[in-house]
Amino acid sequence: LHSRLPAVGTTVFTRMSQLAAAHGAINLGQGFPDFDPDPRLVELVTDAMRAGHNQYPPMAGVPALRAAIGAKLGRLYGRAYDVDGEITVTAGASQAIQSAILCSVHPGDEVIIIEPAYDCYAPAVALAGGVTVPVTMRLGADGYSVPWDRVAAAVTPRTRMIVVNSPHNPTGAILRAADLDALAAIVAETEILVLSDEVYEHMVFDGAEHASVARHPVLAERAFLVSSFGKTFHVTGWKLGYVAAPAALMAEFRKVHQYNVFCVNAPMQHALAAYMADPAPYLGLPAFYQRKRDLFRAGLGGTRFELLPADGTYFQCVRYGAISGLPEAAFAQWLTVEAGVAAIPVSAFHSAPTESGIVRFCFAKTDTTLEAALERLRRL
Ligand code: PMP
Ligand code: GLN
Repeated sequence: LHSRLPAVGTTVFTRMSQLAAAHGAINLGQGFPDFDPDPRLVELVTDAMRAGHNQYPPMAGVPALRAAIGAKLGRLYGRAYDVDGEITVTAGASQAIQSAILCSVHPGDEVIIIEPAYDCYAPAVALAGGVTVPVTMRLGADGYSVPWDRVAAAVTPRTRMIVVNSPHNPTGAILRAADLDALAAIVAETEILVLSDEVYEHMVFDGAEHASVARHPVLAERAFLVSSFGKTFHVTGWKLGYVAAPAALMAEFRKVHQYNVFCVNAPMQHALAAYMADPAPYLGLPAFYQRKRDLFRAGLGGTRFELLPADGTYFQCVRYGAISGLPEAAFAQWLTVEAGVAAIPVSAFHSAPTESGIVRFCFAKTDTTLEAALERLRRL
């Protein structure tokens, strides 16, 4: 077959998880919790199945869940999305991202992607016939930041979309209000759309506020805002998420969505709707993960790993130059096989060969797992 995606292989997450399993390494590579969700959430799924929610739900999502999402977006970010026409429940953030790109990018359109970048944006752009335009983040003494001057310079008459991701995978950097203003200044007076990947929206630390595009009128009116229940409720395997966008964009999104999946898992949508009646689980998430971040960072103190700032997500990036001169992929491999702790090379998030001497650890793990990994890392 003449491949549509000739450059795509198996993702780094799958490869590193397989390597970790093969060598009995502690897997701090692929991002997922190694602990269970709230048992009440699991009960609610069974309740929904027993209540007969086992057939196709509405294409856009169970109304009660869309209402819960709308209420959350209103409460946290102050924008009133119309739950009928502006919110759609998706098969994870991944499908939301894929469908948002497929519904809006035409052959030859350019999509600006800020690197390092999560791996699912570029293949979707390629499938749409679009062209990705990478812009590299600035890496200074205070960590990674988005160079808005470089983003502005990358804009051409063909630019269709800019993809942003905050809190950011893999760097753990977060956008601030000033970043939203800078992005708004670039897209205002243009037809450029924004795809805002906010799957880690509830993992923002040290009292910072999540800079959702929903907070910013100029951005919200042209943005697909994407999030994931998998991250927020410790259920990455459920593959449920959502997209919120103005009605005109959402109408186009649903043209793709209805033929891509038509609708997504009914009982879990009902369970999530009931569970979200109480905001405590997601309001408590920053504190929950900040404690784990602090535990992990403290544990690496005194080692030869150099910690980068970790303002959001459940990822911690570290420089390892004092330990090894290996390139990132080789170091991650060595760390997994020889030191027994799997990590992800940041180079995997770049479209061109890039070596920064940085790997990413996931700290969405039980304290026991983190302590065991730290014990191994402290020997290096
Ligand atoms: N975006 C980012 C930045 C992610 O880290 C992930 C998680 N793999 C996704 C999107 C996809 O989320 P989901 O598992 O809900 O499809
Ligand atoms: N988002 C997860 C990560 O960055 C991986 C999800 C996946 O395996 N596709 O580790």
